[in-house]
Amino acid sequence: MYKIGFIGLGIMGKPMCKNLLKAGYQLVVYDLSKIAVEELVAAGASEGVSPREVASQTEVIVTMLPNSPEVREVLLGPGGVIEGVRPGSLVIDMSSIDPLASRELGAVLAEKGVRMLDAPVSGGEPKAIDGTLSIMVGGIQHDFDTCYNILRIMGTSVVRVGDLGAGNVAKLANQIMVALNIAAMSEALVFATKVGVDPELVYQAIRGGLAGSNALDAKAPLVLEGKFNPGFRIKLHIKDLANALASAHVIGVPLPLTAGVMEILQALQVDGLGDADHGAIVRFYEKLAKVEVRRK
Ligand code: NAD
Repeated sequence: MYKIGFIGLGIMGKPMCKNLLKAGYQLVVYDLSKIAVEELVAAGASEGVSPREVASQTEVIVTMLPNSPEVREVLLGPGGVIEGVRPGSLVIDMSSIDPLASRELGAVLAEKGVRMLDAPVSGGEPKAIDGTLSIMVGGIQHDFDTCYNILRIMGTSVVRVGDLGAGNVAKLANQIMVALNIAAMSEALVFATKVGVDPELVYQAIRGGLAGSNALDAKAPLVLEGKFNPGFRIKLHIKDLANALASAHVIGVPLPLTAGVMEILQALQVDGLGDADHGAIVRFYEKLAKVEVRRK
């Protein structure tokens, strides 16, 4: 069994670590938050004082951080993984970041004989707790095979999508579709409510047809209850759509609908809802139409 380093113990990283500990892996953990580290140490992990220390004590290093700049800092910055890592080790970055950044970071690590997978996840905190995440992996087949058992502890669906960066391409595709689905649901339910039809019954009537989706089933009940605590924060979705728009524009792909939803998310953030769940997209439409989509 590999000894695993885990850096980034937030909403997602913490339960993912706990599942690895339960499965019998030895963990060395690091986070800027002392409280998060203490919680994991109490659950059986040992503490590394820096990413360098974590890397020097482990063969597989997992990162679960907010975005590309944090992953770059932890891997290549002062006291970073690159200063302590041994040749032959493997870095699995499970954060959702810009795919072009994954490739750049992988190339720098490769010069030190260190391999890298990008393995972002979908499913949110409940699935991180249950160990039932969907994991989208980029990297060479051999490294995927080496890490498969570790990833299967954290997720039920573990799919290699292609070479390094491909995992984050799949994740951005996922985030585009989720954002557009929630916006479409919001537009439709605000319309139905203002016409005077019960939105709960509209949801029940259409969920089994072509408009039905996991996004609809996850978000419509929360919208009908008026529950907008995260979940997946609006500010994180802004980060993902910014990465999608930036990488699409570099290769000459216009994303007109994504750009539209991005502006809705920006407006909600200005309105103080950056830390609300992305289901709060409905609040933008509600304000425009002066109606609230709620269970009667
Ligand atoms: P979070 O903000 O809860 O956790 C991030 C952790 O990283 C924090 O504990 C923070 O202290 C730590 N951190 C930040 N910079 C650091 C540094 N330089 N060194 C060490 N630690 C550092 O975020 P999260 O919700 O756990 O999300 C993590 C990633 O997973 C993001 O890329 C997010 O987009 C993705 N994701 C989140 C969800 C979700 O529902 N929350 C779902 C799927 C994917």
